[in-house]
Amino acid sequence: MKNKFFKSLSFKLLLLVTIIIFALISASFLFNSQIDRLKKQIDNIYFGNFVPLITLDLVLKNYQTIIQCKKITNNKCNIEAEKTVILKNWNNYNKAYKTKQERKIVSDIDKFIVNSFKLDKIKIYELVIKQINFLKDHEVDIAYKQRREFLVDYSSMKDYLFYNFIAIIIFSFAIIIFIIYQIIKKDNQLTILTKKYKIESITDSMTKLYNRKYFDNIFDNLPFISNANNWKSAFIMVDIDFFKQYNDTYGHDLGDQTLKKVAKALKEYFNKEYEYVFRLGGEEFGVVLFDTDEDILIECLTDINKKIINLNIEHKSSKILNIVSISTGAVIYEPNSYISANKLYKIADENLYKSKQNGRNQFTL
Ligand code: GH3
Ligand code: MG
Ligand code: MG
Repeated sequence: MKNKFFKSLSFKLLLLVTIIIFALISASFLFNSQIDRLKKQIDNIYFGNFVPLITLDLVLKNYQTIIQCKKITNNKCNIEAEKTVILKNWNNYNKAYKTKQERKIVSDIDKFIVNSFKLDKIKIYELVIKQINFLKDHEVDIAYKQRREFLVDYSSMKDYLFYNFIAIIIFSFAIIIFIIYQIIKKDNQLTILTKKYKIESITDSMTKLYNRKYFDNIFDNLPFISNANNWKSAFIMVDIDFFKQYNDTYGHDLGDQTLKKVAKALKEYFNKEYEYVFRLGGEEFGVVLFDTDEDILIECLTDINKKIINLNIEHKSSKILNIVSISTGAVIYEPNSYISANKLYKIADENLYKSKQNGRNQFTL
């Protein structure tokens, strides 16, 4: 039961859907992780480089204002307010992340700034400006470096995403193709089995001719088919002569062999379109010929008598020849004559009886 489920179509479809979902989830995870990386890089450039530069620039401007004010006697500047703004901006810059090396330099400058306010000299302020400019240059350098790194990273990120997507698509595609192939294979097997069953259900297992069931089907429709197509159609009933004696003489197994040989000969002879050979039962066969006429039928009847004789199967206990022979009874259906299939069968049977009565190995039409 469990095994059956794993082989079933619904399991394969379930697997298919799972694979598609899995592929979509992995693709979105992949995409998400790369987007996160991209965001981090942009943050780095913005908060790591752009914001510090602006902050330093503000500090610089305030220092320059202080120097300007101090140069003008009788100034109306609020130097203390400028200092407060400087400290506020500087602290912001100072607080931000720095490497170990940067931290050391920035700490030194920090002390220098605090001292500069105590000393309150233009010369000192100018020195501070120099230091701030140094920091600014450094930040610009770092910004360029990080942008270069970002561009390299961005391009490798793009490649990484691209190749991963391709890999996911190929992988999913391969599995989907495999599953579809399996489904088609199963389907083909089923079609073949159904076909085989259909053929088997209308075939006589021993002679491989059409069976009685199929005969009934075709023969019942003979009048309708003939009327619809305006065809003359024929029915031949074939019976092996003295077959009981054959069995008695040669045994049932050899009897079967002979039945098969006769069946094969009939099948080989009536091999065209609209020609059907059936095993009606025992050692009796039926032939249905659509779209035929008297001349063709007489030729066929003559031929099949000869053909069986030509098989040259020994039959010592036959009362007419020392080889196997057949007797046949035939009937022609004229289109729109409205004779029933039953009646046709009866006529053919009577004709067969006549052939038997008249000495066998012959036909009666
Ligand atoms: P007739 O010439 O009048 O047709 O005589 P007959 O002996 O052929 O006819 P009858 O109907 O008396 O006997 C038919 C025999 O066919 C009886 C049976 O032993 C044999 N038979 C029927 N079906 C099979 C079969 O499948 N295999 C074999 N070996 N013999 C079969
Ligand atoms: Mg018979
Ligand atoms: Mg017979």
